[in-house]
Amino acid sequence: MKTVDLRSDTVTQPTPAMRAAMMAAPLGDDVFGDDPTVNALQDHIATITGKQAALFMPSGTQSNLCGILAHCQRGDEYIVGQNAHTYRFEGGGAAVFGSVQPQPLVQDVAGRMALADIAAAIKPDDMHFARTRLLCLENTWNGNVMPDGYLHEATQLARDHGLATHLDGARVFNAAVASAAPGQGAMARVREIANHFDSLSVCFSKGLGAPVGSALCGSRELIERARRLRKMAGGGLRQAGFLAAAAHHALDHHVDRLAADHGLATRLADGLKDVNGLKVRSAQTNIVFVDVATGRGPALLEFLSQNGVLATGLIGLRFVTHLDVDAAGIDHALTTIRRFFAELPAVPPAGAAAGSAVY
Ligand SMILES: *Cc1c(COP(=O)(O)O)cnc(C)c1O
Repeated sequence: MKTVDLRSDTVTQPTPAMRAAMMAAPLGDDVFGDDPTVNALQDHIATITGKQAALFMPSGTQSNLCGILAHCQRGDEYIVGQNAHTYRFEGGGAAVFGSVQPQPLVQDVAGRMALADIAAAIKPDDMHFARTRLLCLENTWNGNVMPDGYLHEATQLARDHGLATHLDGARVFNAAVASAAPGQGAMARVREIANHFDSLSVCFSKGLGAPVGSALCGSRELIERARRLRKMAGGGLRQAGFLAAAAHHALDHHVDRLAADHGLATRLADGLKDVNGLKVRSAQTNIVFVDVATGRGPALLEFLSQNGVLATGLIGLRFVTHLDVDAAGIDHALTTIRRFFAELPAVPPAGAAAGSAVY
């Protein structure tokens, strides 16, 4: 039986059509600005997001880093969620490479920082304080779509205080497909989300299924600063059109199909609803988080991997659907999870606190 890999939507293989597009791409040296395929992708994603310009990046981490450093100087700070990728999962890069300090704030389950907390964290102009320059948000948040009302209020508050705004939109296409109004295309919905922000980073290597690549989108001026930073970070790539072609193919062919990934995530979540010993958190897009009775998470992960189902447990048990998963794979995962809870005694290991665990 084929392994069902639900660890992340980053594990996909390029499709034959994507590989063909890569092989056929006209190339040039992108550090000289000569790669027509990179230039076409950058124009395309800038148009989609409604920004003046865009810059192709090797990774989302580098894209967020160059975005933050393009907005901030040494000794500045950015306001960010305590559990946000741009604070917690990027190795502290903005502080390490840019001397830009994060001001992390508590988030609610929907990923929102309270507006009052944001306002209170914005420092007055005083030599005791770092200069507060930027607000960073993330959408999707743990697979859920951030409500427009919150995006509007938080970014408006930032603007009222002279702050710039950046969206970590690694999965913004998932957000768009899941929240487009009837009759509204996904691209129009991406632009609507992006409109709240001065800049955003999007990933092509997640649900869109490209092997590599992200883009930072923003004003021409911001992108020119980011281009210098990307070079410093070692992200100036040469015949990068190979990779940009995959990303462009993904934008042309893999956006609307995200709805199928979302459908499979719902299928998984629905199938787990009545399983004793675990609790499914909401699954609006392609990520299903599951809370397991205390102490049983590692054993479940081990049992799953022995039976050809891969998932991760870094921040709670997580299953992610993507291009290379089908309904049969999801049904195999469901059967295997049900078997685990049917076969093993539901007694938590000695020492584990009852009833309170996330994982
Ligand atoms: C994956 C991800 C990133 C970083 O992308 P990499 O290409 O893995 O560096 C940033 N933010 C979020 C929310 C992500 O999921």
